[in-house]
Amino acid sequence: MDNVFPVFDQILSRKEKEKMLGQRGCALWLTGLSGSGKTTLARHIEKRLAEKGCLTQILDGDNIRTGINNNLGFGKEDRQENIRRIAEVTKLFVQCGIVTINSFISPSQQMRDMARDIIGSDDFFEVFVDAPLDVCEERDVKGLYKKVRAGEIQNFTGIGAPYEAPLNPDIHVQTGKLTVDESVRHIIEVVMPRITFPASST
Ligand code: ADP
Repeated sequence: MDNVFPVFDQILSRKEKEKMLGQRGCALWLTGLSGSGKTTLARHIEKRLAEKGCLTQILDGDNIRTGINNNLGFGKEDRQENIRRIAEVTKLFVQCGIVTINSFISPSQQMRDMARDIIGSDDFFEVFVDAPLDVCEERDVKGLYKKVRAGEIQNFTGIGAPYEAPLNPDIHVQTGKLTVDESVRHIIEVVMPRITFPASST
């Protein structure tokens, strides 16, 4: 069906909104095993960017699975639909000039490529939050690995279901080796030039 309300998107252009905010929108798509550090990094990145005056929105299981995607399960099709909707929501934020920080295991390259296609390659950073399985299992932040080993959870990513490491991530942080501060600093260093509004166009 044709979009009968196209004009409402165009009252203010993306560029005008970005000028208002003094920043450029983009998506930081954090991917990695459970316990690799996505949530921790998302929160620290948000704090660090807020200190620099940047507006962000974290999207994670807490606000997505309980809201817009509360009718989706964990079967193959629903996982795909989960990521598709997250990417579409992300695109809206990004086009409003907001830096979105996505924290989802997103285990397959195909899923992450779909997100990149929907959001647009120019606005998308694939951030590989990389800690080895044994480190994640040792941390066991949510007690999930213990449940997996006890046979209470099936098809857990990294054990019963595959995690495909990004082939060519835009940013790679080895959170098993770096501190949280070092990891955040590295990510901010890479993305800050992309977020900062060019002085000539303000
Ligand atoms: P995820 O969201 O990927 O499941 P969490 O952020 O919930 O992972 O848990 C990661 C745990 O690892 C936290 O307890 C965090 O303090 C710890 N950690 C240690 N080093 C790092 C690092 N460099 N980056 C992120 N987290 C780290």
